[in-house]
Amino acid sequence: MANIINGKAISAAIRAELKEETEAFFKKTGVRPGLAVIIVGEDPASQVYVRNKRRACEEVGFYSEAYELPAETTQTELNALVDRLNADPAIHGILCQLPLPKHLDENEVILRIDPQKDVDAFHPTNVGKIMIGDYSFLPCTPAGVMALLERSGIDITGKECVVVGRSNIVGKPQAMLLLHANGTVTVCHSRTKNLAEVCRRADILVAAIGKADFFTADMVKEGAVVIDVGMNRRADGTLTGDVDFESVAPKASFITPVPGGVGPMTITMLMQNTLTAAKQAVN
Ligand code: NDP
Repeated sequence: MANIINGKAISAAIRAELKEETEAFFKKTGVRPGLAVIIVGEDPASQVYVRNKRRACEEVGFYSEAYELPAETTQTELNALVDRLNADPAIHGILCQLPLPKHLDENEVILRIDPQKDVDAFHPTNVGKIMIGDYSFLPCTPAGVMALLERSGIDITGKECVVVGRSNIVGKPQAMLLLHANGTVTVCHSRTKNLAEVCRRADILVAAIGKADFFTADMVKEGAVVIDVGMNRRADGTLTGDVDFESVAPKASFITPVPGGVGPMTITMLMQNTLTAAKQAVN
């Protein structure tokens, strides 16, 4: 049976460290890291995320503001809010919860957020920095995966890493971070041929496709490290990952559960980015 990577415990340990760092930073500079979260419309899942982000800010000692805008907010109004937050010295990180209602242009918002306050690392300036390995903000979910690997003592150098999924927020930056950590990286997607065969090559398999229980034991090499980024709702409302945990866990050396694996790390990495942004702002 695999070692189960406890994302909840690792996340709690990192948050405790961040809280200490935040207090030390405040003592030295008088500045409290500030995060503004914008949400437009009444998507219940997004509302839960925003609440969790607020709670995480309190836990690590940040200042936070939440803007819950009505669904009919115009692009001009949203842009004006972003401009105001860009100029506000008490705010070091700005996050606009996606997806936005259809009449709003997500790209326009991403481009408008000051790259130095872009704690989601979605702005092309920060995406470009990630590509060349000169980054201050790490994309939250892939950074969470890297922290889980590191804190579980898993060495990436020279390992066959297979990332399944090529989205801008998970798969692509994940592949880049593994490459910077000296992994030999393959990226798979919906057009990949012989997916099971490619996955079986992996020493480290990262599943990020959004299909419940898709990765079964026959797709995993004996002793592989299996990281499940997927978050899918079953018909009964319970949460499940992309990996069929029951069949894969006995074969893997390490595995992340869902819930309690990658999920808790994402917000923690957002807190890390916000502290980094505050430190950069005072320098
Ligand atoms: P997207 O839908 O943006 O991307 C899915 C990717 O998976 C695409 O690249 C797609 O390929 C690929 N894919 C889909 N079906 C298959 C298949 N059958 N075989 C191979 N590849 C396939 O999703 P995200 O990247 O945003 O999210 C992925 C998962 O991670 C979701 O379950 C999401 O909920 C979860 N997630 C979890 C987070 C966390 O905090 N734990 C944060 C963000 C996401 P193609 O490009 O060819 O279409």
